[in-house]
Amino acid sequence: MKLRIAIQKSGRLHDDSIKLLKECGIDINNGVNKLKTEASNFPLEVFFLRDDDIPQYVEDGVADIGIVGENVVLEKNRPLRTVEKLGFGKCRLAMAVPRSMTYNSIQDLDGQRIATSYPVILGDYLKKMNITAEIHEISGSVEIAPGIGLADAICDLVSSGSTLFMNGLKEVETILRSEAILVANNSLTPEQEQLLGKLIFRIQAVKKAKN
Ligand code: ATP
Ligand code: ZN
Repeated sequence: MKLRIAIQKSGRLHDDSIKLLKECGIDINNGVNKLKTEASNFPLEVFFLRDDDIPQYVEDGVADIGIVGENVVLEKNRPLRTVEKLGFGKCRLAMAVPRSMTYNSIQDLDGQRIATSYPVILGDYLKKMNITAEIHEISGSVEIAPGIGLADAICDLVSSGSTLFMNGLKEVETILRSEAILVANNSLTPEQEQLLGKLIFRIQAVKKAKN
């Protein structure tokens, strides 16, 4: 019996996910363009997937556990267990407006158009703040939307803020702070739970050693 883990195939979380497994003493050969691989010294099978697909695969039990950004887990809104925060992939989902705009509070966005790849999280936030805005869902390059007249503001992932700056935008609100997390399917077998427990124990030891 093996535990199956889904990690990002390529992108910002890929390298750190592999590194974490290595630091846990798990050897995997990470061939390029592979769909899956196996650890040689731990009963673990590794699936390489797009991050957006990971919550669904773990919910469906195609994978037992997964490493993905909290932002994606919240947006997909799937019944998953958050098992451990992993300390990498840190970013924030932020609201940004053109630098030339006078911005005092979120009220200024009432009746405006906001472009985002995170319509669920943004929708919840606006509702909570009692703001009515038009949400334009776009999947990539959200930061160019105000410049081409598609939106008045954006809600996008930010780490340093340099992308916003280069596009003439300024950050005005933090909607969510996020980092990579380990999620698990809700109905693992007792054996799988035991393997997961082993893995979590190792992850916690790695985290402790870093503090
Ligand atoms: P995929 O091809 O897997 O769909 P992607 O382009 O959607 O990849 P990446 O840009 O690789 O995703 O980002 C993966 C995750 O990394 C994000 O969901 C987020 O949790 C985290 N992250 C950390 N910093 C940033 C940042 N500055 N911009 C975007 N994502 C970031
Ligand atoms: Zn993605």
